Amino acid sequence: MLVNEILEQLGSQISTKEYESYIKQLKFNEKASNDDNIVFNAPNELVAKFINTRYAQKIAYLFEVKSGKKPNVSILVSNKSKNSKINQVDIKQMKTQSTMLIPNFTFENFIVGGSNQFAFEGCKAVAKNPGTMYNPVFIYGSTGLGKTHLLQSVGNYCLNNGKVVIYVTAELFKNDFINSIKLHAMDKFREKYRKCDVLLIDDVQFLSLSDRTQEEFFHTFNELHANKSQIVMTSDKPPKTLKGFEERLISRFGWGLIVDITPPELDTKIQIIKKKCEFNNITLSDEIVSYIAVNLGDSIREIEGLITVITSWAQIMKTEITLDFAKNALKDYIKEKHENITADKILDVVARELNVKLSDIKSKSRVPNIVEARRIAIYLIKNLTQNSMPSIAKQFEGMKDHSAISKNIKKINELIQTNEIFRLRVDEIKNKILTK
Ligand code: ADP
Ligand code: MG
Repeated sequence: MLVNEILEQLGSQISTKEYESYIKQLKFNEKASNDDNIVFNAPNELVAKFINTRYAQKIAYLFEVKSGKKPNVSILVSNKSKNSKINQVDIKQMKTQSTMLIPNFTFENFIVGGSNQFAFEGCKAVAKNPGTMYNPVFIYGSTGLGKTHLLQSVGNYCLNNGKVVIYVTAELFKNDFINSIKLHAMDKFREKYRKCDVLLIDDVQFLSLSDRTQEEFFHTFNELHANKSQIVMTSDKPPKTLKGFEERLISRFGWGLIVDITPPELDTKIQIIKKKCEFNNITLSDEIVSYIAVNLGDSIREIEGLITVITSWAQIMKTEITLDFAKNALKDYIKEKHENITADKILDVVARELNVKLSDIKSKSRVPNIVEARRIAIYLIKNLTQNSMPSIAKQFEGMKDHSAISKNIKKINELIQTNEIFRLRVDEIKNKILTK
């Protein structure tokens, strides 16, 4: 059966641990499924959430590869599905969601920090007055940093104000276009995409090298723009570095506002994680939240998935989540790449992160921020490399011998134990070195 085949195929692409703990627990819900919606039942909320965040898209993709049609994949919790009434409601909700606006992707649920502030303000401004301020808005940034969340926030805001909103991924736009040609339904296609008030196109980089779709998008864009309908796009790169695009499209991408989202600063990241935990009814101590923020990279999507890993393990093992438990549950996911780390690399990262000149760190300067950067560098070289104290001393002009090094290390250990913010900062730099 196709469903089993697809789950097996997924199994061959992920770790046995995840396959056994999650995917194997899924049951295909044939009654609730149809060509457009594939429904699975999961034994509990956690497994359902975990698969939804990490694998639902992938499963949909595997379906598309096999059958040529991409369904909505939904994971429902089993005990609910026993009750056919509730099941009906779930399915109905799922169908309305296939307009693809996720209700909780709103401005209110978005944490604003330096890394995303311009994107946030820009989106909010156009959501309030679509088509009149910046047109188009082009948001770019790496994966998992909140682009889709912001794009959908514009959609939800405008929808609530009675606007006709279309949200599509660029991939879907392309498939819709190709199918409409095949079915001789281009009139319908154009009616849909050219007559809306707000068109939101997610991951526009996927239109690369698709000449005919780009051509159609070009005309869609022109008509919407002329009619003062708002266009908002996201992409993983800024327009000028997009490859495989017609010049006339690239130039239009820059007509309005171009904003980026960069990886969140530590405190923003901590707030986002807390918000997600609150939303998902998960309680984690501040200590664990900080550990996750410092050690798990920048993609919030990835972090959300891994928080689910911790909570599901805790549930399976019927234990409370302590810091040690979390560390242990995450150890496979945290790359410990100590091998290639050299003193030079550490000095480089410390200088850059703390905005101090490399030559100053190595000098005898007693300026406080330089002294601090020097201490952190010494501490990290001692911790992350096999270099001996005398050889570390040789890197720094003012350090005569190993006793000068051990004095600095003692000082920093004191600071780490007494100053939480300082400790987090050092951990963050350490993580930057480890993940480079
Ligand atoms: P992208 O489209 O950039 O790959 P998403 O918008 O899908 O990323 O975000 C991934 C997850 O991270 C979503 O669950 C989203 O809600 C969450 N997220 C990212 N940034 C923020 C933020 N600033 N505030 C709240 N949630 C965020
Ligand atoms: Mg996205």
